[in-house]
Amino acid sequence: MWALYRVRRSKPSSRSTLADHGLTDETGADSAAEAAAAAAARMSPVAVEPGMLYVVSTPIGHLGDISLRALQVLQTVDRILCEDTRHAHTLLARYGIRTPTVALHEHNEARMVPLVLEQLREGASLALISDAGTPLVSDPGERLVSAVAEATGRVVPVPGASAALAALVGSGLPAHPSSILGFLPRKGKEREAMLRWASQCPHSVVLYESPNRLADTLTDLAEIAGADRPVVVARELTKRFEEFRRGTLATLAAYYSESPPRGEIVIVLSAAPAAVAPTEDSLRDTVRALRADGLAPRAIMTLLMEREGVARNLAYRLAHDP
Ligand code: SAM
Repeated sequence: MWALYRVRRSKPSSRSTLADHGLTDETGADSAAEAAAAAAARMSPVAVEPGMLYVVSTPIGHLGDISLRALQVLQTVDRILCEDTRHAHTLLARYGIRTPTVALHEHNEARMVPLVLEQLREGASLALISDAGTPLVSDPGERLVSAVAEATGRVVPVPGASAALAALVGSGLPAHPSSILGFLPRKGKEREAMLRWASQCPHSVVLYESPNRLADTLTDLAEIAGADRPVVVARELTKRFEEFRRGTLATLAAYYSESPPRGEIVIVLSAAPAAVAPTEDSLRDTVRALRADGLAPRAIMTLLMEREGVARNLAYRLAHDP
């Protein structure tokens, strides 16, 4: 059964194919890759454990951004589960890794889970990789890792590159705390709810976006979060044309409408400004206005708590004060 899904290794790819796949041999990445491969070869082999699933991060552009341990694990496991086997071969060939690959992507993940579990139970060691960066982060693998965690608990992450963290730490915006939201829904109520959630978030929010939707998303965010909210757009991270553009939602929406971007994009939205707590005097004015509108103390108390975030004791006192 398993063999059905097994994919033959392709010949090592040319440099232009590397670039086609967003894996760049620019800015010294190629020589970094060679150095990493040589260093990994010199290290004594890692002992991968039978029955273990390794979740391995791969580069998001610069080929040198892969850990020596990741290379060793990929070299040593019995099979590598890949989002796209052709894409994976480009990377693996660069490092001389000949481990057999098997496709595991969003369209076959559900079907693959029982097969993978069976292989793990039989003692196979497996690695999971995605096309770029860290699997599961807006990439396939969640269903598999959750099933393996529940069935055997034998999952080992081999950490490395992720566009979300690279964008966050290079943005200059506070990184802790922060949320990684990934891609927004494309349209409808779900999109609106996520845009609202992102704009009200009290810390930095990281979003993935495609270049052709960037200007629209910044415009939508400006409408909800306010034109002046600081934002950073990170483009082509770790590649030759890496760029961080900092501004407000309004300025960057205008900029990218005028100059449509190319390449891969991450948006880092700054935190919603902290709401200024109302003073007791301003709350008394509010209470007076509500009384003038004919509201009873109980209704005033509810409004103070729900709309102004006033504590119950204070809301009671203000609503009942003559
Ligand atoms: N798992 C990946 C990770 O850990 O970064 C993310 C996969 S998600 C399917 C792909 C999205 O990540 C792209 O559309 C883009 O928003 C972002 N991305 C990936 N590589 C990038 C890069 N080099 N520069 C900027 N954004 C990138």
